[in-house]
Amino acid sequence: MIENCPSQIRFDFLNLNHSDRMQRKRNLTTIGFDADDTLWQNEQFFRMTEKRFVAMLADHGDEGEISARLLDAERRNLAVYGFGIKGFTLSMIETAIEVTGGRVPASVIADILAAGREMLSHPIEALPHARETVEKLAGAYRLVLITKGDLFDQERKLAQSGLGDLFDAVEIVSDKSAATYARIFSRHGDGPEKSMMVGNSLKSDVVPAIEAGGWGIHVPHELTWVLEHVEPPVGASRFRQIADLGDLPGLIESITEIG
Ligand SMILES: [Mg+2]
Repeated sequence: MIENCPSQIRFDFLNLNHSDRMQRKRNLTTIGFDADDTLWQNEQFFRMTEKRFVAMLADHGDEGEISARLLDAERRNLAVYGFGIKGFTLSMIETAIEVTGGRVPASVIADILAAGREMLSHPIEALPHARETVEKLAGAYRLVLITKGDLFDQERKLAQSGLGDLFDAVEIVSDKSAATYARIFSRHGDGPEKSMMVGNSLKSDVVPAIEAGGWGIHVPHELTWVLEHVEPPVGASRFRQIADLGDLPGLIESITEIG
């Protein structure tokens, strides 16, 4: 049995088409992309809605106080509702009930629900170099979109972005841990060691991908939710930071040359 293994592997290898053979030889075959605030704008819609929310409750507290209560509610509810706009909307309602001592008018609740619905239909605004970079890498690498958030909303945004066909797979997950990346990169690629995750969140995109054994590429966005903040893993050999997605192809070339 043991003697047969090498020839079997060789046979499998020769049966691959040329581009697959090239991929096998490379030390990087699979690239995961975060979506929100990596490929398109997202956090800015949360910030705008929060401003509206705070204005609705201006009689019951100042901006900083109401925002802090809302953040507390979001933190409490994350494990119950998960990430996304629907959970955010419920947390706004909960906060409105709290800060008004249970006397929030139904008209304000209606306004909050309307603000949430508006968020769920906001237009897609791609970030600089997102499309050209994804187009450039598609075909040469297996591309996987890996995102948290509401299933319907993420599917809508992906469809509207026009980027869907460039990805080999889409994974909408409830959380992004090292185990999540190990599973996804094994299912859609050659394991985390030959994979890279690209995203704006150190906590969700970069650190757990490195923990799983892959590359973690940070593309900072000026607006990143406070609950996504962690210290950068500066000592990690597979950690890199780039200014925007336009720098990604060059970075990948330099990494794959290292061997
Ligand atoms: Mg993101």
